Amino acid sequence: MLTRLFRLHGLVVASHPWEVIVGTLALTVCLMSMNSLTTSNQVCSWNECPKLQEKTQNSNIIILSITRCTAIVYIYFQFKTLRQLGSKYILGIAGLFTVFSSFVFSTVVIHFFGKELTGLNEALPFFLLLIDLSKACALAKFALSSNSQEEVRENISKGMGILGPTFTLDALVECLVIGIGTMSGVPQLEIMCCFGCMSVLANYFVFMTFFPACVSLVLELSRESREGRPVWQLSHFARVMAEEEDNKPNPVTQRVKIIMSLGLALVHAHTRLASENQGNNRTVEGPISDSLHSGGAWPFKLTSMDLEQVITLSLALLLAVKYVFFEQTEAESSLSLKNLSSPPLQRQWKEEGCCKRNGLVQMKWQVIHDNSVTCQTSQAVSHLQSTPGPDQDIESKPRTLEECAAILFDPHRGSKCLSDSEIMNLVTSHKIQNYKLEKVLENPERAVAIRRELLSSKLPSTSAMAHLPYKNYDYTQVMGSSCENVIGYMPVPVGVAGPLLLDDKEFYVPLATTEGCLVASTNRGCRALLLSGGCRSRILADNMTRGPVVRLPSACRAAEVKLWLESPEGFSVLQEAFDETSRFGRLRKLLVGLAGRNLYIRFQSQTGDAMGMNMLSKGTEHALQRLKLQFPDLEVLSVSGNYCTDKKPAALNWILGRGKSVVCEATVPGKFVRQVLKSSTVALVELNINKNLVGSAMAGSIGGFNAHAANIVTAIYIACGQDPAQTVGSSNCITQMEPTGPGGEDLYITCTMPSIELGTVGGGTNLMPQKACLEMLGVQGTSPNHPGENGRQLARVVCATVLAGELSLMAALAAGHLVKSHMTHNR
Ligand code: NAP
Repeated sequence: MLTRLFRLHGLVVASHPWEVIVGTLALTVCLMSMNSLTTSNQVCSWNECPKLQEKTQNSNIIILSITRCTAIVYIYFQFKTLRQLGSKYILGIAGLFTVFSSFVFSTVVIHFFGKELTGLNEALPFFLLLIDLSKACALAKFALSSNSQEEVRENISKGMGILGPTFTLDALVECLVIGIGTMSGVPQLEIMCCFGCMSVLANYFVFMTFFPACVSLVLELSRESREGRPVWQLSHFARVMAEEEDNKPNPVTQRVKIIMSLGLALVHAHTRLASENQGNNRTVEGPISDSLHSGGAWPFKLTSMDLEQVITLSLALLLAVKYVFFEQTEAESSLSLKNLSSPPLQRQWKEEGCCKRNGLVQMKWQVIHDNSVTCQTSQAVSHLQSTPGPDQDIESKPRTLEECAAILFDPHRGSKCLSDSEIMNLVTSHKIQNYKLEKVLENPERAVAIRRELLSSKLPSTSAMAHLPYKNYDYTQVMGSSCENVIGYMPVPVGVAGPLLLDDKEFYVPLATTEGCLVASTNRGCRALLLSGGCRSRILADNMTRGPVVRLPSACRAAEVKLWLESPEGFSVLQEAFDETSRFGRLRKLLVGLAGRNLYIRFQSQTGDAMGMNMLSKGTEHALQRLKLQFPDLEVLSVSGNYCTDKKPAALNWILGRGKSVVCEATVPGKFVRQVLKSSTVALVELNINKNLVGSAMAGSIGGFNAHAANIVTAIYIACGQDPAQTVGSSNCITQMEPTGPGGEDLYITCTMPSIELGTVGGGTNLMPQKACLEMLGVQGTSPNHPGENGRQLARVVCATVLAGELSLMAALAAGHLVKSHMTHNR
């Protein structure tokens, strides 16, 4: 009912703008002219009050200055925010609202304080501080989203229906809260609060009368543009309206406000009654109190007239507001939530697309499409849905590609003002490059969603990607470093094995895998090691490599260059160039191979905590530039000549090592071999010889003298953000087993891994879930004391976990349990 009342009020005001404007102006001028009649009852202004002048001169100046400055900054920011909407109409209308509201406010101040313009100096900043343009702009946006003058009226009325009750309640609460200050007994606070109350009332009065009338009139005078569309009409306001609706206070807040205002009304009543009871003898020193007693300030006159009646009336009104307006809102809200979850409706809106409908329907579509549909938004949608009107049946022209492109490149509007389907059109017409979506939209998740939408139409099934997640992921760490053309992320289960007792420290090792049994088996190996006193490890070398290929005019010339590179002078020249490129990269060695007139130079360098491939590539390139200065006839064929060797099986890595070279050993007492591993030392040793050594030799393996090192390496690499392709070289491992101890009952086992390529900074280690797994091991990021220590520690963990995995799998194979356990856990 209340909504209808406000809507009716809005319609009347918007339909008769001239009458309302003239009426409001006349009323204001009347107030002003009444001033001359009331000058005898004047209340002194802040600075001029003789009682206060001496005491508070200095503090007044400070307070007033701060207030003025804050008011100016505040107004500035309000206008700055409005500017981002990109409409001169919004700005103009807001300006008009501010100017006229201040005019009304000044008139009221002059009238009630009766000091011509003297009181205004102090008063105006308080007005500016309390003025809130957001509601006025929201109403203006309702009007600006219209397609015709009739719709302007309809939308102003609709906007008034939505904003009016809230604004009324807000004004009431603000007045009551600020009104408390007028009873404080502190003269300056009383004046300030009185100004505040008047400011709120002036603001409210203008918002309800002059402002909607003005908006209606301004838009009527602007009329049509040449294309037949109203010049003010900007369809992106439909989107802005949705945002505006998001800010609508929820019913709970409203209820709190109502309860608060009731409480405040009681406080006011109590204070006024008490002062009445004390009689007229009481001397009130404050200027506002003076004015109260002399009947000066009308808001207070109202409350003191017949308090009982006023309070009863207010209570009835407030309860009516609660029941009629807010209960209805709740009902609408729940209805709209149901509607939102209804697939046919979503589909219908989606099919219609925002370019084919007018602004309001476009807004609905976007709300549905938005990932974060809030309850408030639902209310907005619901409201618009439940309101039959032009928004439901008027077709508007879709924006052309050129229009969309213009909006996109307009710094004040940008992609925010375009719908998803408009962005897709821009991509398909190559105005935006698909791979640049994240950058252009400045919203990675929206970019990913749009890319998926574009892709799904080209796939055999449009629902192909339904189960590939993409939401709630921090793409900022991915962009420009980890992945391009992103369409989502791949969740992989992560299990934990441990505690792994390594060098007297316990580790819980994260393993990302989809192979059943792997984590359970590794865990069993860890348990056997824990009972056996753990395992020990050593780092043998720590050098990453990059092997470019260069060509010389002849084989003899290549041999000369080789000699120079192998000389101390040659090495130091290249070392100096290489080391300049990084704080951590330090060239340690050059290995030069020759094939005809080609030279293969293997740069070997420490890389701190980074795996180091980018670091080495950078350093190598710089060193080659220096080499070319020395030998101008040298031609660099490629910064990588496969002599590195990265991500490909190579004997060089197996023999010389690459990255971290690690060895790990353990002795498992016979009883734990039997109890935990369910095997025997003899069986394990024999199987190791026949499978891991002879078997792999028979297969011509390079570095594959193990049972399943790659399983553990890969699972740790995926969990800890390593480059998974480097499991090729990193899984190089030879597992050896011997009987030891009295009677050869105990098992001595070693794993030697010469080329573990990993790091704890850079690449995928920067992503949050991967960071979490590194943190589990206590090796995330840069090691604080010795750069490289975290990387080396991770390599030790990898080698020790491989050893645990080898123990368990070999035991399962020896006991013939492998197939059985895989049938149980892996199918
Ligand atoms: P990176 O992230 O490219 O480089 C490491 C960066 O971290 C450097 O800027 C380094 O500083 C800095 N840093 C800070 N603290 C450090 C510390 N304690 N230790 C070491 N560096 C530290 O990482 P990267 O390991 O060289 O390269 C890894 C990436 O390369 C991965 O994404 C991988 O997939 C990829 N990759 C590249 C190639 C290739 O051919 N380029 C091959 C395989 C893999 P400085 O600037 O002072 O050095």
